Amino acid sequence: MAVSSSLSATGVRWDLTDLEPNAEQARSDWEDLLERARDFAERRRGTIGSAGPEGLRELFDELDELAQDASRVHFYATAREHTEATDPETNDLATLARDRAADLESILLFAELEWLALDDAEADALLQAAELEPYRHRLRVAREEKPYVLPEGEEQALNARQPALSAWQSLHGRELATLTVEFDGGEGPEPHTIDRLLAYVHHPDRELRLAALDVLYGALEGVADVQAACYDAIVGDRLSLDRLRGIPDTWWPTNQRNELEGDVVEAMMVAVEEHYPLGRRWFVRKAGVLGLDKLQLADQYAPVGSDRRVEWTEAVEMVDDSLRDFEPRLGDIFRACLERAHIDAEPRSGKVGGAYCNSVSKTVLPYVLLNYTDQMRDVVTLAHEFGHAVHGTLSLEQQTYRSYHTGLALAEVPSTFAQLLAVERLIELEEDPATRVMLLADRAEGAMASIFRQTMMARFEGEAYAARGEGKGLTRDRLAEMWIGANERYYADSLELPEGYRLGWTYIPHFIHVRFYTYAYAFAHLVAFSLLARYREDPERFAPAYLEFLGSGASRSPQDLLAPLGVDLRDPQTWAHAFAEFDRCVTEAEVGVDELPTG
Ligand SMILES: [Zn+2]
Repeated sequence: MAVSSSLSATGVRWDLTDLEPNAEQARSDWEDLLERARDFAERRRGTIGSAGPEGLRELFDELDELAQDASRVHFYATAREHTEATDPETNDLATLARDRAADLESILLFAELEWLALDDAEADALLQAAELEPYRHRLRVAREEKPYVLPEGEEQALNARQPALSAWQSLHGRELATLTVEFDGGEGPEPHTIDRLLAYVHHPDRELRLAALDVLYGALEGVADVQAACYDAIVGDRLSLDRLRGIPDTWWPTNQRNELEGDVVEAMMVAVEEHYPLGRRWFVRKAGVLGLDKLQLADQYAPVGSDRRVEWTEAVEMVDDSLRDFEPRLGDIFRACLERAHIDAEPRSGKVGGAYCNSVSKTVLPYVLLNYTDQMRDVVTLAHEFGHAVHGTLSLEQQTYRSYHTGLALAEVPSTFAQLLAVERLIELEEDPATRVMLLADRAEGAMASIFRQTMMARFEGEAYAARGEGKGLTRDRLAEMWIGANERYYADSLELPEGYRLGWTYIPHFIHVRFYTYAYAFAHLVAFSLLARYREDPERFAPAYLEFLGSGASRSPQDLLAPLGVDLRDPQTWAHAFAEFDRCVTEAEVGVDELPTG
């Protein structure tokens, strides 16, 4: 990463003392935690069935405390690892944290297993008890896995295989992380990583965009066989475990994590596919704007209009205003995180790329990491991460630790909503017409990337699992064919796919880590679009209901959490509403480019 000291977020680093004062204390806290966990296990093992509602409440409260302290101590190590990767003390601490966290999990696992082992009548009676109300929904959801859980000895044997399985994931990741190629981005040939090559898709110079992807695909030729072998091994393993556990549907484990019904997910994906022409409409228009007959894949995210520099302080003001305007409490949470220095925004060597938010515990405000490079896009990222932070803060205030954290699909809803609010405000206030057009195009293209492309990817995976289930190996050629097929169903003839793009599946980490992970992005973006439309209809009524939604965490299902906001996941009209909002974004971008001064 090119780091310049002239970047405006220089010096904006987080202060981790709310987590731990130093590494020594963290080490000793890990020992204390393990001691507490062992003591807990000694007292509680074998009591879940006989504790009664009151005893069980105490047990889960104690477990909740342990889990939060572990979260705090663990994140201290992770946060240091993410910002000072070359410090030996940090690396030792991170290793210790991983080992101790695994030990802790093994010691405490009995509680979850004993809960599952109860028969349904016993469990139902307990779930009715008022004492267990703060844990009720999570405990009920956990039991849905009961039919697929194997006897303890078999589960332990499967657990013992985990490192071998992770090795495939590590190999896949390492192949990508270590892949560098010479590329001349205008300042002479330099070694480029995959991420750096991919970043050229936003470059204004078309020759560079095309050349960067060309070089990327050339480099992927060398790793495609290994990447296919990793994927084949992982998919094969997941499918045989599904058979062993008796899981009837390949999508079930992911849908279960997201607490979404299979029918809801499928209906959403079908609705997305029916709207692919909306994307194509924009690509055809964009080709005209760029003066091309047809877009190449490398032109998909080519800049339209122009970016401008946004200083860190201006970004902070904008996100604060956008949150506060919606609801002052959200602005207060943002300011509180800033004041306690829970944000690390400065890009520097030894720091990870990307952005995330970690909502640590009920007693510690969330921490946010991002890499602020003074671009408009970074403001949007800041808003996105604080959408997570306000969600985490409010739900940790009102829920138990066990009940605060939602599945991935719902977790991305508040962040996407905060991002959409901020973008709308940026567009409204932007004085430079060319920058305004850039924001309009970026908003539309961002929605296409998360709604259309991520759905397309989940479909590709669906095909791969089906083929593997029929005993067909996932070779590079077979994967390439499925990949191009899925892409062609989306882009059709609105955009040209280069020959090398056959290997475009090789560098998507989600495929390796969680099956069908990507549909969560489409879900969250569509739901956020729906929510934005509801908000516009009746801001006075929407804002308090939304605050309550944020505070509810994962204490109910997504279906039940979203219904009071006017979003019924089982109603096909919900997706129609979302696409009306999406269409509005594309139309506004089209109007924007029409008004751009030419020449
Ligand atoms: Zn997010």
